[in-house]
Amino acid sequence: MSLHPCRHLRFVITLFLGSSLISFAQNADVAKLPPVLDVHVHAMDANFPGIAPMCPNTSKFTASDPKGKEEPFGWVKEPCTPALYPSAPGEYMKDVLAEMERLNVTAVVFGDPRSVQKWKDAAPSRVIPGTAFSNGMTPGQRVPIEELRKSFTTDGFKVMGEIGLQYEGLSPSDMSVDQYFALAEELDIPVAIHMGTGGSGRANVIMPKFRGSKGDPLLLEELLARHPKLRVQVMHAGYPMIDNMLTLLQANSHVYVDVAGLIWSYPIKEVNRYIERLVDAGFEDRVMFGTDQLIWPKLMSYSISIIQNADYLTPQQKRDILYNNAARFLRLDTAQPK
Ligand SMILES: [Zn+2]
Repeated sequence: MSLHPCRHLRFVITLFLGSSLISFAQNADVAKLPPVLDVHVHAMDANFPGIAPMCPNTSKFTASDPKGKEEPFGWVKEPCTPALYPSAPGEYMKDVLAEMERLNVTAVVFGDPRSVQKWKDAAPSRVIPGTAFSNGMTPGQRVPIEELRKSFTTDGFKVMGEIGLQYEGLSPSDMSVDQYFALAEELDIPVAIHMGTGGSGRANVIMPKFRGSKGDPLLLEELLARHPKLRVQVMHAGYPMIDNMLTLLQANSHVYVDVAGLIWSYPIKEVNRYIERLVDAGFEDRVMFGTDQLIWPKLMSYSISIIQNADYLTPQQKRDILYNNAARFLRLDTAQPK
């Protein structure tokens, strides 16, 4: 694909929105679009982080000089066409839910229980609630285990995530958090663990404890051995450690991956190559669609279009990635037979 990234962006958005508009006109009922499951959305509030217009699928991982001013997120600041600008302050949840309604998306929404409950109340049939054991942004602060148990047994939470131990420099197999995974196994709740990509300059700019090496998918092996019934969603598909990701998928068939974040964070050729490698290696029934939606409501249609336009996927593989695989992983009653 030799298109310039921004021209490519316009191309895919036109394609996806174009076909949606046709469905609108013909059916006057957007619910007739085939369903999509986004397994990776964040219940950010209006204030987070309040910046970062961006051009997706670019490769601006530029060097910085410790003597100079370090950019906080490493995302592109200059305008590009079209840009995925953040929502207006206070509009993020409303805008994302409107996009989900328009595109027939159901999403697993992660965050602290109160924030997620707001999303669930606003769109009960479109939100699958998820929460985990980090308490705020300070590394090492944990939610008391009985509180988390209540979230899953009484308050209707369905997925334990996003578990971001890599940002704390911890392996997912670290014994200090084992009790939480034991709880997930006991309650038969799937866990969603951040593995791999962390954003440009993550370790030296804003998260000094972040370690790229702690995103190695093979670090999950001891955890999986201790908890053989655990269902694991490897978030970001362990990008870019494809060989170790494939090794883990081969060794453990309870493991699925999501392509959230990586799908728009790297050059499109690289993204397609990574997803194609997962599928070509035989794991087409374990790749799940996700956005890692944080502040850009338009990211939903943009990211779906990358799967829709993947010329290396069959129509069935696209449906599996956009819906069926996640429905099976989450054991939704509506899972469509293959
Ligand atoms: Zn993540």
